[in-house]
Amino acid sequence: MSASARSFDLAVVGAGICGLAHALAAARRGKRVVVFDRDAQANGASIRNFGFITITGQQAGACWARAMRSREVWSEVAEAARIPVLQRGLLTVARRPEARRVIEDFLATEMGAECRLVEPAGLADYGAGLRAGRFAGALYSPHEMRVESREAIPQLAAWLAERHGVVFHYQTAVHAAAPPRLETSAGAFEAGAVVVCPGDDFRTLHPERIAAYGLRRCLLHMMRLAPAAFDPALPAVMSDLGMVRYLGYAELPAAAALARRLEAEQAAHLDNGVHLIVVRSADGSLVVGDSHHYAATPPPFAPTRVDDLILDEYAEVFDGPLPPVVERWTGTYASAADRLMLVDRPSDALRIVLITSGTGASTSFAIAEEVIDELYGSAHGVPA
Ligand SMILES: Cc1cc2nc3c(=O)[nH]c(=O)nc-3n(C[C@H](O)[C@H](O)[C@H](O)COP(=O)(O)OP(=O)(O)OC[C@H]3O[C@@H](n4cnc5c(N)ncnc54)[C@H](O)[C@@H]3O)c2cc1C
Repeated sequence: MSASARSFDLAVVGAGICGLAHALAAARRGKRVVVFDRDAQANGASIRNFGFITITGQQAGACWARAMRSREVWSEVAEAARIPVLQRGLLTVARRPEARRVIEDFLATEMGAECRLVEPAGLADYGAGLRAGRFAGALYSPHEMRVESREAIPQLAAWLAERHGVVFHYQTAVHAAAPPRLETSAGAFEAGAVVVCPGDDFRTLHPERIAAYGLRRCLLHMMRLAPAAFDPALPAVMSDLGMVRYLGYAELPAAAALARRLEAEQAAHLDNGVHLIVVRSADGSLVVGDSHHYAATPPPFAPTRVDDLILDEYAEVFDGPLPPVVERWTGTYASAADRLMLVDRPSDALRIVLITSGTGASTSFAIAEEVIDELYGSAHGVPA
């Protein structure tokens, strides 16, 4: 390899959505960028998630604003990289009057400006197949987008290489990152700046810096249901359980009464961090999840009772027979008790960026723009 092939303006560690977002933001500034990933292709949270760019429900303030900005970038790159957008919008059904009151509170915030309350009789306008007669209403949001992550992430990387000249070194582990020098399993590289986006690997690069944040991993269960008579017009669907998990709802005054009722009626769901997200794939199959279990090292065992809780909630929301489960998987992401993301600054030219909540698909593009602006100089920096 020539000397110039080993020397870059910016090196990014990690080819998940966080790393790719930083590569994009720097490449758009004309920087020569190299991305390293120890796997043959991204294999972490970024390809295991719903591919659901969630706006409505994100915590009010910075997170919601980052999701709005990231959605804009997703729209641009999806079109440019020919990544299909499979669904748009979100319908959060209220199974209980308490959940409807959370929707009413939400609509009174600035985040609710383009969203609307849907009465049960009006739900058919959004697509067939919901048990609408049992609901107290629903919240419709037009903001969301859904991509098939396992295809979209490799497509995004290929487009970054082709359109922006980003160089990728897969199957290359980075052992040390202290700009201007990186030590990798493929030898030494040089870069003027380094951004480390290691996902839930807290031990390889700068472990003492990451340890200071007291992180754990969060394990999630996911399933794919066989193609079914699922109305392709339906947007993504969530239910009451999501309103006590997503901070954009959970921090509203009416959420306390909903939480009390769910504790009485769905304690097992809450204990396992279960809520419902249902999105549709191109072949008509459904990606359904998820659950949340926290540990330093989550067990590799995935009890079926957790999947059954997710499917119970599916059956409460959708009419008709439950389609067979054709695929099950788990994923993990970094989790912090006190923050949704973190940017650590060991030196002027080094940043460690972790999305410490289940929001990376929805916020990484905006976070990366802020980090790259701060690294290369701009009016606004990163508050976290
Ligand atoms: C099941 C599931 C569902 C989710 N649903 C949603 C959702 O609906 N909406 C949403 O916004 N978010 C969702 N998330 C969260 C989102 O997927 C994550 O926040 C995001 O993918 C994190 O991206 P990342 O790039 O930081 O990490 P990852 O995707 O884990 O990528 C990190 C990469 O770094 C590489 N790496 C680490 N250390 C090194 C090293 N030393 N050398 C070389 N390579 C290294 C790893 O190999 C890996 O490829 C979900 C997550 C899961 C698991």
